[in-house]
Amino acid sequence: MNITTMTATVVWENCLIFIKDNISPQSYRTWFEPTKAVKLANNALSIQVPSKFFYEWLEEHYVKILRSALVRELGENAKLLYVINMGNSKEGDASLMERLPSSNRASVKEQAINVPLKTKNPELKNPFVIPGIRDVKIDSQLNVNFNFENFLEGDSNRLARSAGYAIANKPGGTSFNPLLIFGGVGLGKTHLSHAIGVEVKEKFPEKTVLYVSAEKFTQQYIESVKKNNRNDFIHFYQIIDVLIVDDVQFLSGKSGTQDVFFHIFNHLHQNGKQVILTSDKAPVDMQDIEQRLLSRFKWGLSAELNFPDYETRVAIIKNKLFHDGVDMPEEIIQFLANNIKTNIRELEGAIISLIAHSSYNKSEITLDLAKTLVENYVKNTKREVSIDYIQKIVSDYFSMDVETLQSKTRKRHIVQARQLAMYFSKKLTKASLASIGRQIGKRDHATVLHACKTVDNLSMTDKQFKKYVEDLTQKLSM
Ligand code: ADP
Ligand code: MG
Repeated sequence: MNITTMTATVVWENCLIFIKDNISPQSYRTWFEPTKAVKLANNALSIQVPSKFFYEWLEEHYVKILRSALVRELGENAKLLYVINMGNSKEGDASLMERLPSSNRASVKEQAINVPLKTKNPELKNPFVIPGIRDVKIDSQLNVNFNFENFLEGDSNRLARSAGYAIANKPGGTSFNPLLIFGGVGLGKTHLSHAIGVEVKEKFPEKTVLYVSAEKFTQQYIESVKKNNRNDFIHFYQIIDVLIVDDVQFLSGKSGTQDVFFHIFNHLHQNGKQVILTSDKAPVDMQDIEQRLLSRFKWGLSAELNFPDYETRVAIIKNKLFHDGVDMPEEIIQFLANNIKTNIRELEGAIISLIAHSSYNKSEITLDLAKTLVENYVKNTKREVSIDYIQKIVSDYFSMDVETLQSKTRKRHIVQARQLAMYFSKKLTKASLASIGRQIGKRDHATVLHACKTVDNLSMTDKQFKKYVEDLTQKLSM
């Protein structure tokens, strides 16, 4: 390895560490592990990717993070060049490395792609740097790829979709205010909420639209309290015409944020502004959300997204393939639609793995490949578990019902079951100690903390108990 490849490797490895921290392990494995640094010259880092498809995918989905990583390593003048290996991918690494500097070899195609140096859009991203609020343009934070056109319609989403469309034509002017879109993971809540925003922007460019996740909203709020500019925060949100808050279940148990959201909501609603909310639960099932806020969520329309039926799944797959410019035999499409029944994100994940795999190995997409991948894919994908689900599994395991597990009794085996449920809730969900306690028999956060410590201790000292933990870990990881 010569000196330029060596420095290039070091620089790229540092970039990869940063990237790995910021994306999902699955994406990292699929898109970044197969890359390799080739050379570094004049702040331009060349990396080798297995195919043109990889390069396009990286550019489409990861350009921002690539830019951040490179700028960190090489400064503002950083450039990224892709080397697409058109040769036989089974060749040894060393020979490939040595060959590469003379990039005009027929088997190696070098394609220079500049990493955009500055954000194209200098508009406001952060609500806290608002000098003279009035004339500020707000970046909507919308993803234009999540539009109505590629949000395919089916029985599973008809109500939510058409209500969303009606709103986009008349924001604030329908009885669907707020619109609450709810449904399980990966069923299209985020996509549909963006689509409404994108459509509004198209029809009413002068309207201020803002998409924000409830999590980000919460962070911003906490920050504003720290910096003592809570009022600026509230004013910022009060000038929005169409406010989209994604995953409002995240607000559960956060009373300060709920309170501020309540005021913003009232202000917007009274002024005929549109509010769109999404949640993974129906309003009746939302825990730890203040009653006054919940009742407001129910003012407009709550529309559920369900898992799409077979025809819609086929249509979604075809649309995705069309969008990515990939051909796939009908039998494979049917196989995927038949076998992935969990959610649309997994369906897409499987398609992407399939394309990446065949592109990496330069092989055809075959039914066999699809079968192997789906098997691995479905096995390796962790489901999100809920506290309810954990309580159910733990109770079943100890042959008791959930009420017994939650009861106030001090009977040893019941206490242990309860503590295990708390321990796994802490381990497998993002819920706070307080919220776990409330959901498992109305205990406080100290009880949950104590439970977690007890389980840790017992599983080190007590063989039988260790077995419980192992069995339950297995049951809960599906
Ligand atoms: P959620 O927010 O409910 O977890 P997302 O909106 O992130 O789900 O959707 C997961 C993936 O499924 C996204 O890539 C989205 O584009 C896709 N998707 C969901 N519903 C549809 C649909 N009706 N048509 C096409 N793609 C969809
Ligand atoms: Mg979402």
